[in-house]
Amino acid sequence: MLELADSDELRVEGPIYYDLHVQVATHDVVASGSVSVLMSFCCVRCAKWFSREIREDAFLCSLPFTTDDESVDLTPEIREAIILALSAHPVCSQDCKGLCPQCGRNLNDGKCGCTSQVNDSWSALDGLKLEE
Ligand SMILES: [Zn+2]
Ligand SMILES: [Zn+2]
Repeated sequence: MLELADSDELRVEGPIYYDLHVQVATHDVVASGSVSVLMSFCCVRCAKWFSREIREDAFLCSLPFTTDDESVDLTPEIREAIILALSAHPVCSQDCKGLCPQCGRNLNDGKCGCTSQVNDSWSALDGLKLEE
């Protein structure tokens, strides 16, 4: 299992799938292919958890390899690729409406009664932090 630390914002939900083509050369081993893992994220706009497959189809790494080595550990490389493929600001959907900055209602579930002045997702986030 990759040691992707579960946090308040993301969780690893399943095993890592990889489909790699490995070539052993004289002094190194080159692996290329795709890696994917199912993860869940806390939406930065509405704070709901959602699952998404993180996939890197252009995975490529090369590691030093000698005949003394019995195996190479690709785990750090795969972990790096997954981390790079992660979105820095995960949203459950591109048109997630987020939370109402006034009453905190999830606007994806419908409109609230507030007369919204500005659609300011940052103040919704501030509200979230205050509740913690
Ligand atoms: Zn959302
Ligand atoms: Zn509201």
